[in-house]
Amino acid sequence: MKVQQFGVIAVTGLLFATGYAGFKARAAVHPQASDTIDAARRQIANGDKAQAKGYAESMLMGQRLLVAVDYGDTPASQIGACSESLAGAFEMWETALHGDVKFALAKPGEEATIKIRYGKDVRLDGSIVSGYINWSRTIERQGNQATPIFNADIHLRTTDPNGKQMNAVQMRHTAGHELGHMFGLDDVNTVGMLMGPLDLRRPVSKPNPTEIETVQAIREECESIVAKADAPHGHHFLGYGSCDEHEHHHH
Ligand SMILES: [Zn+2]
Repeated sequence: MKVQQFGVIAVTGLLFATGYAGFKARAAVHPQASDTIDAARRQIANGDKAQAKGYAESMLMGQRLLVAVDYGDTPASQIGACSESLAGAFEMWETALHGDVKFALAKPGEEATIKIRYGKDVRLDGSIVSGYINWSRTIERQGNQATPIFNADIHLRTTDPNGKQMNAVQMRHTAGHELGHMFGLDDVNTVGMLMGPLDLRRPVSKPNPTEIETVQAIREECESIVAKADAPHGHHFLGYGSCDEHEHHHH
């Protein structure tokens, strides 16, 4: 039985002008990610450990993330640049999170958690975007267990708005940006940040320290909620008060 579901569509805007250079910005947490973390906090406070663990694990997404890639209408000559950009996007986050997550391409027959689709003309509500992600975090409750189910669909553009093929470093920014949403980050307006808009002339190669710290803080909190949920607890005797008051006397 599904008791809770969160979904979100996040957009990457395209930007051609620089002008925010040198502006020191903070990373932002995506509101839907905040809701999931809040749910985990509330449930652990309420003592519903299974549900708390389910929410926290849905943010953590497991250590091995299986990815399926569909190159769509990408010309054969550009597929190398796409796969190079993806490898770079995976590596930037694996490095930032010190190997806490690993991306792997799904083998035939394996169900991918993250589905990536390339297209010459990616649009959202009619607007040209360099990419977008649509993810869902679902908790499936069965008895005492709350199983987290996480899925993400990522759409990435292969041409810029002038119809020119995008190169590997430009597409690496957009792929890394959409993965940033998956880890819980929101868009910022600052050019030069991974979660900022794409400047085609100066794409970003990795998350900056505040973006990394924000994702690490989210993950550390979720890991501590999972640890609390897994901690053994004593079985209290009715009428004997709390454990702290127990004293064992041997006569
Ligand atoms: Zn975005």
